[in-house]
Amino acid sequence: MIHQESECLFCRIVRGEIPAKIVYRNDHVLAFRDITPVAPHHVLIIPLRHIASLSDLSPEDEAVAAQILLAAGTVAGILGFKESGYRLVFNSGPDAMQSVFHIHGHLLGGTQMGWPPFPGAATKHG
Ligand code: AMP
Repeated sequence: MIHQESECLFCRIVRGEIPAKIVYRNDHVLAFRDITPVAPHHVLIIPLRHIASLSDLSPEDEAVAAQILLAAGTVAGILGFKESGYRLVFNSGPDAMQSVFHIHGHLLGGTQMGWPPFPGAATKHG
């Protein structure tokens, strides 16, 4: 796991050091196609500024967190699935299998999806 900004894969994409299929960028976020898509459209939406995971968000990050959500609808419109529907998934931590430690929302669209999104029996808590 790489947590440092200088070595962070997605920071390197933001800086243009690693190529990516960019679909949208503004002053706060970048959206680019996932290298291993799991849906007809699979786009990662990331903040330009390095924040490792959802659990690292602080109240000062409120604006950038909102920008990620806003970008989801914008990108869905650009790619043509805003009306048919889409899903925005954030993996945070080991149970969710987060593998890149720079916040990213997986924007998934272009197909009918199922629910729940994971296999296995549900366990009730509380
Ligand atoms: P997660 O497992 O939630 O941390 O998701 C990380 C995502 O980053 C995975 O879906 C990978 O396929 C994707 N990924 C890794 N490297 C790249 C890359 N160079 N360009 C685009 N997507 C990538």
